[in-house]
Amino acid sequence: MDQPAQRLPSVDRVLGAAPLRALAERYGHSAVATALRAEFDRLRPAALAGQLAADAIADDTLAAACERTLAERFAPRLRAVFNLTGTVLHTNLGRALLPDAAVQSVLQALTAPANLEFDLATGGRGDRDDLVAELLCELTGAEAATVVNNNAAAVLLTLNALAPRKEVIVSRGELVEIGGAFRIPDIMGRAGARLVEVGTTNRTHAKDYQEAIGPRTGMLMKVHCSNYAVTGFTKSVGEAEVAAIAHAHGLPLAVDLGSGTLVDMAQWGLPHEPTVRDVVGAGADIVTFSGDKLLGGPQAGLIVGRRDLIAKIKKNPLKRALRVGKLTLAALEPVLRLYLSPEHLAERLTTLRLFTRPQAQMRAEAQRLLPVVQAAAKDFEVTVATMSSQIGSGALPVDTLPSAGLRLAPREAKRAGRQLARLEAALRGLPRPVIGRIADQSLWLDLRCLEAADEAAFTDQLPMLQALLATT
Ligand SMILES: *Cc1c(COP(=O)(O)O)cnc(C)c1O
Repeated sequence: MDQPAQRLPSVDRVLGAAPLRALAERYGHSAVATALRAEFDRLRPAALAGQLAADAIADDTLAAACERTLAERFAPRLRAVFNLTGTVLHTNLGRALLPDAAVQSVLQALTAPANLEFDLATGGRGDRDDLVAELLCELTGAEAATVVNNNAAAVLLTLNALAPRKEVIVSRGELVEIGGAFRIPDIMGRAGARLVEVGTTNRTHAKDYQEAIGPRTGMLMKVHCSNYAVTGFTKSVGEAEVAAIAHAHGLPLAVDLGSGTLVDMAQWGLPHEPTVRDVVGAGADIVTFSGDKLLGGPQAGLIVGRRDLIAKIKKNPLKRALRVGKLTLAALEPVLRLYLSPEHLAERLTTLRLFTRPQAQMRAEAQRLLPVVQAAAKDFEVTVATMSSQIGSGALPVDTLPSAGLRLAPREAKRAGRQLARLEAALRGLPRPVIGRIADQSLWLDLRCLEAADEAAFTDQLPMLQALLATT
């Protein structure tokens, strides 16, 4: 007949036992009780069938099972990873990494009250934009500035504030789709503006803009072709010329610059991108750009331009819905201030430091790491390889940065695809997941974003790879 062990004990009795009380110290009584009930639900069918061993319901066994559940439940979902994809500003991996000055400032904003909307000079109410507006104006040559959640919000707000129920003229060559459902025609509709397309996909002329202007026109707009390049038989009209056309009709020109850089990247041997100052100088009345792309700061949408237009944008009710929090401003301010000392920028601004790492440095790092990686991935042949990194996030889609890293190729050609998929999964299973890239029958680890300070954290966990490879 059935033994008593085949009946589940009472929840309260088990919760009162020492091993479970120890768990409650760490996770709290209610979370432990929930985990224990779930464990009993799992064991109940076996208990009813009379197939439960006595040691399956020993206090220690139950505590161990609960601990596994609780550890999983309490583990953070947002985790640090190693971005060895070769794309520095990787949208899915959180884009720009922030410099230490920003980290310290965010830490302070997290733990102490701050003058977010408090004027320390008068004791009256302040405006959160004022914390960075002056810096933004100085760095871009614009008259005024405001900040919202991201560049998509900046474009939405600009259109809604400056051209509601009006026509907005955009070249067909600039009807951009950025990843994640940001399409200029859709945003235009949601903002309550009417898109008027001019020109063709590859060629738009000044007269196309001129002829489209009518009594219902509210604004002209140019959009940076962030993530693609139109090449061959092409023609677009520059900002200065479109601005002149707009101004001749008393209309504003807004430019969505996408990545938007504050300094000419060419001085560090990087590809040239027009700066925000260039575009403001060319006559754009409003320029919008991202905080976490080339700028190297937190996610934000920066709007700079004419004082009267910025005032109108700030008065729009959507501004309140799209505004940034104190953590964003705490991170943005020190990043912008770094630009006041351009001589130090390549060393102090994390993203720029990564963009400008010399290839020889990554190659030397690859040589150093080669034996450790080879020892961890015995079924793969690991070699030092020349690679091309990308800036990413739509900035300069065609240009690549000479880089170096490690190439892992399966020793056996048979089922190479499956072996690579297993390796990729095992690397993702490490305590700090390693994200590489599969191409040409190999897994590539671009070392541009693995700086010396992180090397030990990378290599220390590699011995765990064998076990993970065996289970994936
Ligand atoms: C990236 C980009 C956006 C969207 O910016 P987010 O900051 O990601 O919202 C909009 N327009 C262009 C041209 C872009 O490149």
